[in-house]
Amino acid sequence: MTKKKMKYSTQFSKTFKNPPKEADTVNHKLLTQAGFVDQLMAGVYSYLPLGLRTLRKIENIVREEMDAIGANEVLMAMLHPKDIWEITGGWDKVDVLFKINSRTEREYALGQSEEEVVTPLVMSRVQSYQDLPIAAYQIHWKFRDELRAKSGILRGREFLMKDMYSFHSDQEDFDKWYQIVKDAYIKIYNRMGLTAKVTEASGGAFAEKISYEFMVLTDAGEDDILYCDSCDFCTNTEVAGGLKEGSECPRCSKDQLKIAKASEVGNVFDLGDRFTKAFDLGFSDSEGNKKYPIMGCFGVGVSRSMGVIVEKYNDEKGIIWPESVAPFLVHLVGLDLYDKELKKQAEEVYEAFQKKGIEVLFDDRIDAKAGEKFADADLIGIPYRVVVSKRTEGKLEVKKRSESESKIISIEEFITSLASQ
Ligand code: ATP
Ligand code: MG
Repeated sequence: MTKKKMKYSTQFSKTFKNPPKEADTVNHKLLTQAGFVDQLMAGVYSYLPLGLRTLRKIENIVREEMDAIGANEVLMAMLHPKDIWEITGGWDKVDVLFKINSRTEREYALGQSEEEVVTPLVMSRVQSYQDLPIAAYQIHWKFRDELRAKSGILRGREFLMKDMYSFHSDQEDFDKWYQIVKDAYIKIYNRMGLTAKVTEASGGAFAEKISYEFMVLTDAGEDDILYCDSCDFCTNTEVAGGLKEGSECPRCSKDQLKIAKASEVGNVFDLGDRFTKAFDLGFSDSEGNKKYPIMGCFGVGVSRSMGVIVEKYNDEKGIIWPESVAPFLVHLVGLDLYDKELKKQAEEVYEAFQKKGIEVLFDDRIDAKAGEKFADADLIGIPYRVVVSKRTEGKLEVKKRSESESKIISIEEFITSLASQ
C-alpha cells in the first residue's frame, strides 16, 4: 500500500453516534458507524477510505496465497454479452443473473460468476494436455439479484469475490489441485484471523457434482453446520443425510456432533466438463484424441470475509481489528493540541512513524474533546492507540485496543516493541 498515513482533519468520513436504524447485524452497525462503509441501497455499499484499506488488505492476503500456488491473476469483464450465457443455458437458469437492456436492443448480463468468460478465454489458448493444468483468478465485483440482501456486507447484491477457475486433463489432477487450494484457503482465513471449517455439500444451480464450503462459526451466518470437536468433520445440515445434533461423529466416532450457525466465506465447485463441453473447447491428449478438461471454480467472499471478521472481533465499544487486516496499525491521538508545543510534538511523532513505515491514522483535530477521540478510536478499532498529551510529558501513552491497561513509554521503545513482534 502506498499511502501509509492519514490525518483525521483531511478525512471526510466521520463516525456516527448511533448505528443506522435498519442495521440487523454487528458488521452493518459498526462498519457504518465507524465510517468504513456507506449503504447506497439494500445490498449495495460504498467503501470509504478506512473500509477500502481493510478490503485491500484482505484482498492482498488472498492474492499472495493464490500467487504462491501458481495461479494467474487476470481481470475479466463484468459486462457480458447475452450469447455466452445462452450457450451454457445460464441466461434462463441462473435466477440471480442481472440482465440489462441496451438502447440498441441488445441484451447483456452482469457477471455473477465468470465461467462463461473464462472458459473461452483460457481454452482458446490451450491446445494439448501439456498446456494443462492451468488456473486463472481475479478479485473483482460480482452482481447478484439476491432476493434478500441482508446482514450488512455478508449478503450483498454487489460484492467483492476472488474467483479462480482451473482446468485439468483428468479428475485425479483436479483432486490434487483441490488439496493444494484447500491448504491455501485455510492459510488465507488464518491470516485474517478466521478459523474455517470445510464442509462437503451438494453443488449449486447445477447440482451434478460435489462442492466444498469453507465455513466460519458466527451467529450472523445463514448456514447451519454440524461439526465434530475431536476431528475435522463438518457438514451443512441441508445435506447431512440423517445426521443430527448429538449424532456420533461418522468420521472419528469419538464425539457427538455439535450444531452451530456459520457463514460461508469460500466455496469450491467441481464443475466437471459442463462448461468446456458447452463451448466445445477441448484439448488433445497424449494420443491425439480430443478431450474436454475438468474445471474447478474456487471462490472466496472477500467483502463477506470483512464482515465476518467484524462479527468475530468486536466489543460494546466497537471493532477490534486483527493487525493483518486493520486499516492502520496505530491510531495516534493528539490531545490538548491548541497548545503549540504539544501540536509540534504530536506532529513529530506522526512524522517519526511515517519514516519507519508504520501505518498511522493521526487524530489531529483541535476542537474534539478527549472523550470523543477515545470513543472514536475504540469504535474504529485500530490495534494500537497512542496518545500524546500534557500528561505524557514527551513520551507516549500506548494502549492496545484488545486490552484495557495503558503504559507510558518512549517513542523509541514503542517502535522497537513493534519491530520485535
Ligand atoms: P451463498 O450460499 O452464501 O449464497 P454461494 O454458494 O452462492 O453462496 P458462490 O457462488 O460459491 O457462493 O460464491 C463464492 C463466495 O462468494 C461465497 O462462498 C461467499 O463467501 C461469497 N458470496 C456469495 N454470494 C454473496 C453475496 N450475495 N454477498 C456477499 N458475498 C457472497
Ligand atoms: Mg448464493
